[in-house]
Amino acid sequence: MFLPYEDFCRRADAVRADIAAACARAGRDPAEVGLLAVTKNHPPAAAEYAARYGLPAVGENRVQEGVDKRAQTTAAVRWELIGHLQSNKAKLAATHFDRIQSVDSEKLLRLLDRAAAEAGRILPVLLQVNAGRDPAKFGAELEDTPRLLETALAQSHLRVEGLMTIAPLSDDSTVAMRTFTTLRELRDRLAGETGAPLRELSMGMSGDFADAIAAGSTQVRIGTALFGEREIEASHT
Ligand SMILES: *Cc1c(COP(=O)(O)O)cnc(C)c1O
Repeated sequence: MFLPYEDFCRRADAVRADIAAACARAGRDPAEVGLLAVTKNHPPAAAEYAARYGLPAVGENRVQEGVDKRAQTTAAVRWELIGHLQSNKAKLAATHFDRIQSVDSEKLLRLLDRAAAEAGRILPVLLQVNAGRDPAKFGAELEDTPRLLETALAQSHLRVEGLMTIAPLSDDSTVAMRTFTTLRELRDRLAGETGAPLRELSMGMSGDFADAIAAGSTQVRIGTALFGEREIEASHT
């Protein structure tokens, strides 16, 4: 049974309070930190809850699941792809999502640009970086990111809005913080070198968003803390 809307509201209020507290500790304005409701493995009602609560966007980690879910609801939210994207799904993703956060190869950039051009749209993207050097995670290697960004900025139908990362799972609480700081520093350096603002830093999940906010996150991606445990755990992101 999916949680009742009232329970979701209590959870969302608590998450927002935690975000505000993390911002206060970091001397940041909470208006700078967006909340992406991660609806993967949850029914379309999850997107409806997010919209009714006033959240602007939801995140899905599988293309087909996101496409199907979006077709089943009229929820007034933007849909963002946060999970690994395979080349053969690039066209579908480019036409059904409002932003793709998981772009990590030149091949994907070219496929997405071509699909966006065919659809007559400019597609917002983030570059996913494996800032924690985690062998279990997707994302561009740190060393390859400048080159990837250069290619991304050259695509006429993509708009590069920033960077995204997922911290490695670790018992050591300093690992996530290090990962987030690495991404922020990379963003600052690349923005300086290219002149592209790269405003969005998508980092932080239910277990580590306070650290991410301390390190400069502008969007936290929250599933479990909003909707409870997922019934089927999603595959690798
Ligand atoms: C599932 C997922 C999240 C949300 O994780 P929670 O721990 O449930 O908050 C965030 N980002 C990505 C990329 C995900 O796949």
